[in-house]
Amino acid sequence: MKLIAIPAFSDNYLWLLHDTRQAVVVDPGQAEPVLECLREHRLALQTILVTHHHADHVGGVAQLHSATGARVVGPAKEAIPEPVQRLRHGDTVEALGLDFRVLEVPGHTAGHIAYYAECPGEAPLLFCGDTLFSGGCGRLFEGTPAQMLASLGALAALPGDTRVCCAHEYTLANLRFARAVEPDNAALAAHQAECEQLRARGLPTLPSTIAVERAINPFLRSRERAVVTSVAAHAPHTDTRDAVAVFGALREWKNQF
Ligand code: ZN
Ligand code: FE
Repeated sequence: MKLIAIPAFSDNYLWLLHDTRQAVVVDPGQAEPVLECLREHRLALQTILVTHHHADHVGGVAQLHSATGARVVGPAKEAIPEPVQRLRHGDTVEALGLDFRVLEVPGHTAGHIAYYAECPGEAPLLFCGDTLFSGGCGRLFEGTPAQMLASLGALAALPGDTRVCCAHEYTLANLRFARAVEPDNAALAAHQAECEQLRARGLPTLPSTIAVERAINPFLRSRERAVVTSVAAHAPHTDTRDAVAVFGALREWKNQF
């Protein structure tokens, strides 16, 4: 199975998975770069996986569907271009011989879903849209801190070797914030140096892994003493006994950073 990060807009990745004949694409905000990739690799598009309703994730769906006939699957609770097969928590979608399990991960949007698949002989795959980014998480446009904290907790509980395919290349900016939160986290400093080198060579910092994110992402670490202490120093009114309040203050801090 081959995994390609197709760059789109200024910092989106449209993830394309293929078996040399058929392909799955995730969140095609634009059709043209996907069509080009399909032509280049002589692939038939079988399925379009959608995580949430934002334009940079669905903008190319209608054109791709009409150009290729690929089926479209997406969250039951959001308005996605029709026709779409509506998915709920615990549903599975079969594509390319893989079973993609649907996790509802509200927070960035109210009905946001993620797709998790075990891959025989390879590390599992997670397509998490704008919920989890490397070193960060999505903004809370429609959901609450409590929802996002629970959603990220569910993703953090996936196997450590899971490849995390985020929809945006936000890593360096996220890591600068993460360093402000956890200046003494050595794994974080090392990861930042690694990602800076990748970007200097024009390469994606993704996919990340769940194990890396657990070690470096402050939004998966909001119960760690170092993170709580930092949040309390930045926002002294925060009730540090309340995990949701700490997480909310951390997200707010990042919004202003
Ligand atoms: Zn979004
Ligand atoms: Fe997005």
